Amino acid sequence: MDNLKQRYAELGITDKVYDFTQSVYRSLEDRFKKIDLTAEYNQLKVIDAMHKNRVSEACFMGSSGYGYNDLGRETLERVYADVFKTEDALVRPQITCGTHALALALMSNLRPGDELLSPVGKPYDTLEEVIGIRPSRGSLAEYGISYAQTDLMQDGSFDYDGIRKKINEKTRMVTIQRSKGYQTRPTLSVSDIGKLISFIKGIKSDIICMVDNCYGEFVETAEPSEVGADMVVGSLIKNPGGGLAPVGGYIAGKKECIDNAACRLTSPGLAKEVGASLNILQSFYQGLFLAPVVTSSALKSAIFAANIYQKLGFDVIPDADEERHDIIQSVILRSPEALCAFCEGIQKAAPVDGFVKPEPWDMPGYDSPVIMAAGAFVSGSSIELSADGPLKEPYAVYFQGGLTSPHGKLGIMMSLQSLVDKGIVRL
Ligand SMILES: *Cc1c(COP(=O)(O)O)cnc(C)c1O
Repeated sequence: MDNLKQRYAELGITDKVYDFTQSVYRSLEDRFKKIDLTAEYNQLKVIDAMHKNRVSEACFMGSSGYGYNDLGRETLERVYADVFKTEDALVRPQITCGTHALALALMSNLRPGDELLSPVGKPYDTLEEVIGIRPSRGSLAEYGISYAQTDLMQDGSFDYDGIRKKINEKTRMVTIQRSKGYQTRPTLSVSDIGKLISFIKGIKSDIICMVDNCYGEFVETAEPSEVGADMVVGSLIKNPGGGLAPVGGYIAGKKECIDNAACRLTSPGLAKEVGASLNILQSFYQGLFLAPVVTSSALKSAIFAANIYQKLGFDVIPDADEERHDIIQSVILRSPEALCAFCEGIQKAAPVDGFVKPEPWDMPGYDSPVIMAAGAFVSGSSIELSADGPLKEPYAVYFQGGLTSPHGKLGIMMSLQSLVDKGIVRL
């Protein structure tokens, strides 16, 4: 395929970068086949749920005003419930993002005097203000809901004794973050989450177990809701939106938990009955339909990146051979120049704003400048190819997404080309 090499050359990829990355890519074929099997399984799961719930063109019509009797919205929520094997689901454009979905699940299911426990260490940054770990207007803490935390052990395993000690008569809910997010701990497998939930319910059976499912959907063939989670929560501009959903979040789980969330999202008494879907539903359905394969593309890109950069002597988390439980890849680049060069390469591969050079900036809420590469059809979407990192030691870049695997591959090749062009990496 010499004309393929020529095509890459026209995008600035030199022979050396092409030959090196191509040989790494070829060495991953067996692993990619396994990922394809997971995608195939999950694709069947989604189609089966669509069949069972008789998805039809009428489901794309949408509603306006109050949004009573919105067939498409109600059917979509049943499809989500079937995909996640839960009693019910809330899937709405009015849930603005993942943080909102998580805040909603927490605030609607906890009452004053209750305690929330995180048995897996510090939760995602944005949840600190939701919970009130960092004092914040409207936090759970302001409503008299307390918070306890047990950190993971040094090796990333659960501190079972520590968790047991933290569970008391006030403990009403547990929050388990599946993805490592931007921490260095390992991501949890669905099976590990299942063991943790059984342990917790064995101590106090009425604890509500919520899983922050962000970045984890469709990476495995089972979801945490199949191993005991009472609620799984996530963002539609990550995996389950398949790159097509332009906004939204979901909560899937026990009927009572979803009823609580619906009453909080809209109003007591109105619950799930209102919420106009306008013209958004087709993108939610089609995005969910594509999500298993889109997630598999993102996974392949992450594994490709890990292998390329580990071979070049960089520390990568997860490492080149590790089993994957989410789509985030980090590479420790060790210098600000390398971090910026990597992000410039990813940006150059973007279908949107590919001509833009990303610059570090002082983002609110961060203690050092942050550089971000994103050229997405949906603003801020991180199922689309994106990379970012804070300009501080150890200069780690977090890389995720890629709606198609050729695009993810190109992004990684461009990132390496950029490092080579700047003399940071020699092949
Ligand atoms: C992205 C993410 C969130 C928050 O989602 P937003 O849509 O950015 O608000 C929460 N938890 C984890 C693990 C995430 O990856």
